[in-house]
Amino acid sequence: MRYEADAIVLRRTPFSESSQIVHLLTARDGRVAGLARGSHRDKTTFGGAFDLATRGRVNASRRRSTDLDLVHSFTITCAYRGLRRSLDRWLAAAYVLELTASCSWPRDRQGELFLLLAATLDGLEAAAERAVARLWATSFVARLIESAGFRPALDDCVACGAPAVLAPRAALSLARGGLLCRRCASGDRSVRSVSRPVLELVARLLAGRAPVAAPAARTVDEARTLLDAYLEYRLESRLCSVRFLDLAT
Ligand SMILES: [Zn+2]
Repeated sequence: MRYEADAIVLRRTPFSESSQIVHLLTARDGRVAGLARGSHRDKTTFGGAFDLATRGRVNASRRRSTDLDLVHSFTITCAYRGLRRSLDRWLAAAYVLELTASCSWPRDRQGELFLLLAATLDGLEAAAERAVARLWATSFVARLIESAGFRPALDDCVACGAPAVLAPRAALSLARGGLLCRRCASGDRSVRSVSRPVLELVARLLAGRAPVAAPAARTVDEARTLLDAYLEYRLESRLCSVRFLDLAT
């Protein structure tokens, strides 16, 4: 069955001297993998030869015997060249792509995730400095958690309902999925100590709201580290991109 869809390049791996396997996020069919025969040498049919984070229109065929589609053409609609001109933007984009690949499923309609990824890449493309790029990356992981239904409870103690102590720091349980009061936190080995500014930033980003004022770079990095750990706990898998972005600090 032949199809056409808007797509963003998440990953690519060489298949032979002239061909590659590309992993795309599509709005219509979620994550798809396709064999692009001759894509290394045929720049006319395959545009920019599937550079990462490139957005385009893919024309492909689904095959009966395998999950690997056959890609006939890829027409670039947005090359995101600005991402490639700054290491900070590029590292944040690589993190966002890796997260998307880890949290998307083949053949599953994921229009919302596609729009979120496209909007995040648009924001990163225009990010003027490292702090802004990292805020986009942090906002992305927060929205991913929210849309997956993993939103942590950040009001009262998730175990007993008592008020959770917020000053000077709160205890967030990765295992329980929310804040704990001091009594319930003792003995929970998955608890992370969270400062009030980080908690406030996380709450706003989960709700899809921008920070009131530009947060400190350290607050953004702590929020992202916390959200990564939280998502990782929920997914029960190591996200290699977490270390990838940390290398740049
Ligand atoms: Zn409690």
